[in-house]
Amino acid sequence: MRKTSSRGILDRLRAGVVQGAEGYVFELERRGYIKAGPYVPEVVLDFPDAVKELHREFLRAGSEVMVALTYYAHREKLRDVGRENDLERMNRQAVRLANEVAREGDALVAGNICNTWAYHPDNARESSRVVRAMYEEQLSWAVEEGIDFVISETNDYLGEALIALEVIQQFGLPAMVTLASVQPNTTRDGYDYVEACKRRADAGADIVGLNCDRGSETMLPIIAKIRSAVNCYVAAQPVPYKTDAQHPTFESLRTGDGQQAFPLALEPFLYNRFEMAEFARRAGAIGVNYIGICCGGAPHYVRAMAEALGKTVPASAYSPAMELHPMLGTHVEDKDQTFLADWKS
Ligand SMILES: [Zn+2]
Repeated sequence: MRKTSSRGILDRLRAGVVQGAEGYVFELERRGYIKAGPYVPEVVLDFPDAVKELHREFLRAGSEVMVALTYYAHREKLRDVGRENDLERMNRQAVRLANEVAREGDALVAGNICNTWAYHPDNARESSRVVRAMYEEQLSWAVEEGIDFVISETNDYLGEALIALEVIQQFGLPAMVTLASVQPNTTRDGYDYVEACKRRADAGADIVGLNCDRGSETMLPIIAKIRSAVNCYVAAQPVPYKTDAQHPTFESLRTGDGQQAFPLALEPFLYNRFEMAEFARRAGAIGVNYIGICCGGAPHYVRAMAEALGKTVPASAYSPAMELHPMLGTHVEDKDQTFLADWKS
């Protein structure tokens, strides 16, 4: 087990808000290192420096947790892209890369498991066995490489989330288990999101909540109810997209010509950094303990959120100083004003 960081996740949560950052798969797809569609993190083996650089950018922007890029690095997905033989190597390497960068700061390393697409509630007994085996092998490698806690995320089914929780508990690690919220009110196996969080809390999860799918406008109202319903720590990691009552998830957003914007044409719906900073403030005000970002996340959001939470982070050295801008600033000399007037006309 990893013992390099001074304080573990539970110590940090007791002391105050912990900031996370995700969206690795989306961002590395945009940078040309991951194929949209299967979204398997082959980049971990093929371009490890690209993964490390993004870890480093999130670290400098204020993320206290380096999430190992093992999202969809499970047997079911690797089989789809013909890389099942790389399963163990990919998982171990992802945790190593997260560790290497975490040591550059004082960050924690989270092992990461997610929805498997192999869980079927109408065949719960057999499919649970398959899912459990996938989680066990991924986490056994992660634990050997060194992790501080585990994030199980975007679980569509409460049943699958509970399997993840049990496996994390087998390894004796703190567990953060968050749900996807693609459907209006319930998990795919029919549990209200609030009730599903309460059940995981009752089963011993340290942190429950939601990640992905929803922007802050449509995620925070559910998070507020979860906060009232559980005594454990609560996490919120929305996507930075303008979801609303008519389009509660980023999957439901439509471009001007009526096409589905998800996942490759979402740019017109992006929040700006100030709006994500406002999300962080609102989440903090309702008592969210783990505040992060999911698909669409990028370092400028993470820094703005950290600063909104009162932190100064390494990348704050380069935070905006608009008073020094030649056109927008307040320190513009008279001769510059003349130049600008000429330039604009
Ligand atoms: Zn996401």
